[in-house]
Amino acid sequence: MDHLTPSNRSWNMGRICSKNTKPEKIVRSLLHKLGYRFRLYRKDLPGKPDIILPKYSSIVMVHGCFWHRHKNCKYSYEPKSKVEFWKNKFKTNTIRDKKVIGELKSLGWRVLVIWECETKNIKSLSNIIFKFLPKPHKTFPDIYQLTS
Ligand SMILES: [Zn+2]
Repeated sequence: MDHLTPSNRSWNMGRICSKNTKPEKIVRSLLHKLGYRFRLYRKDLPGKPDIILPKYSSIVMVHGCFWHRHKNCKYSYEPKSKVEFWKNKFKTNTIRDKKVIGELKSLGWRVLVIWECETKNIKSLSNIIFKFLPKPHKTFPDIYQLTS
């Protein structure tokens, strides 16, 4: 169901397209709390990735579920109007995502995609990060002390 009002929708679009979105901020501040150090937006890398962890040869990308078409996700609904427009838009986005991730990997980077909906639960988000990255050497706060 495309239940959003037009004003809701344009708010949503603007939020999804812009840099420094809320999900991205959540991921950055969590990585920082967990003791990871990273750099932002390296313009010389394919896709200008959001979060770069040179020490781990890793890149973390935060993807909006609607914009980047998160499979089987409630935020990745199909708009009921301008169907062709959106179909093309989504196709372009997913093709570009695949290409960028492939290029980064071929340059030797490990790539983790974190979906917007995964940033809503800090504890499970921490687990996703720990599965992907080795724990940093510095002592990090107990994840159970973090507010969710
Ligand atoms: Zn999602």
